[in-house]
Amino acid sequence: MIVTRFAPSPTGTLHVGNVRTALLNWLLARKQGGRFILRLDDTDSARSTEAFAQSIRDDLAWLGMAPDAEEKQSARMARYEAVLGELAAAGHVYRAYETPEELDLKRKVLLGRGLPPVYDRAALTLTDADHARFESEGRKPHWRFRLSVDLPNQWDDLIRGECHIDAASLSDPVIRRADGSWLYMLPSVIDDVDMGVTHVVRGEDHVTNTGIQMQMFAAMGKPAPQFGHAALLTGADGALSKRLGSIGVSEFRDRGIEPIAVKALLARLGTSLPVEPVTSDAPLIEAFDIGHLGRATARFDEAELERLNASILHQTDHAAVAGRTSLSEPQWNAVRGNIATVADAEQWKLVFTGPIAPPDMPAEDMAFLAEAADVLESLSFGADSWSDLTKALQERTGRKGKALFMPLRRALIGRDQGPDMATMLPLIGRDQALQRLRG
Ligand code: GLU
Repeated sequence: MIVTRFAPSPTGTLHVGNVRTALLNWLLARKQGGRFILRLDDTDSARSTEAFAQSIRDDLAWLGMAPDAEEKQSARMARYEAVLGELAAAGHVYRAYETPEELDLKRKVLLGRGLPPVYDRAALTLTDADHARFESEGRKPHWRFRLSVDLPNQWDDLIRGECHIDAASLSDPVIRRADGSWLYMLPSVIDDVDMGVTHVVRGEDHVTNTGIQMQMFAAMGKPAPQFGHAALLTGADGALSKRLGSIGVSEFRDRGIEPIAVKALLARLGTSLPVEPVTSDAPLIEAFDIGHLGRATARFDEAELERLNASILHQTDHAAVAGRTSLSEPQWNAVRGNIATVADAEQWKLVFTGPIAPPDMPAEDMAFLAEAADVLESLSFGADSWSDLTKALQERTGRKGKALFMPLRRALIGRDQGPDMATMLPLIGRDQALQRLRG
């Protein structure tokens, strides 16, 4: 069974890039009937908060992507400690004592000699006596993972194809700080092993981490999940914009964007499939294939999201918005083609229930409207009233086209543009229509 996870740090709210990562993992799990886990990477206890964790849960729920399970790294510290012990016994991790200043100096010396600033592994030469001395001085070690050319360094990426890292050109990563806190790398691997994660989809900023983590899975004697690294999102202008880091669910919600519109756009950005105005998850899940993602950056265009939202609403059934609109089903069906957000639909409410502000009418139309009222009064009112009315008026007055329709439209709905009048007139009703035509 496929198991995917979305692993945000609860140190902030989700932005559109995170939402996309969550979506890709959710789609992958849903497509295969698998499980989707929310893993809160809260090892940074100073910056992680329950409020951010809750906002992440709320955002996923709003998006209709509630996880099948939730895990928290802060609850798993004992497990990380135990694995660290095993890895230490096998020589895959080691203690080091250099201060940040010492490490910085080493880097500068190497750079000054034109060499890559890779950690020299001086700590590997420490003897038991050295460790005892540091300890007696009250110095606490940090831990590094020992990269090795003997451990695997390549993987077949679900999106990028064959990938590898050159273990010899990288510093052994610090995995645990001297104060005992964990960096992201090793706990993530331990979690993926313990939680049976089979597929990890994340941003391409993690590619090097994956190479290092391949070595960690091997050091634990466990198979690695399959990895896919999605190209990053850019703004509409193709640039990596700061704004993308701040747009998230609360902004989508404030702007009247529907969750399905967010999903419909983000599921297809950067893929070979077109963005389509779907009204449910099913077609997105059905068509999803991680292999459709390309390596080029994907453009996130807010204007495109708004247009997509409108076209989705144009096809959205009343049942889907029933709790959020005061319009009846026939009223909703009449106006949904003319709205950009569900809230927009309320602007039509008074057109159905009255009163509306009497529109400005040129004097030459007043008599025409009075005549229209008389004609309407003489007709039997029903589904065909609009065509009956306009036909009769055309014959009687000789008006046609805009001169015929515009004054009627303006008097009946208070604006020059809007939904199909043939649908609107029966919903406005006979009495209200007569009243509006008579001004
Ligand atoms: N907490 C990490 C991040 O948000 C998780 C990366 C991963 O998916 O492994 O970048």
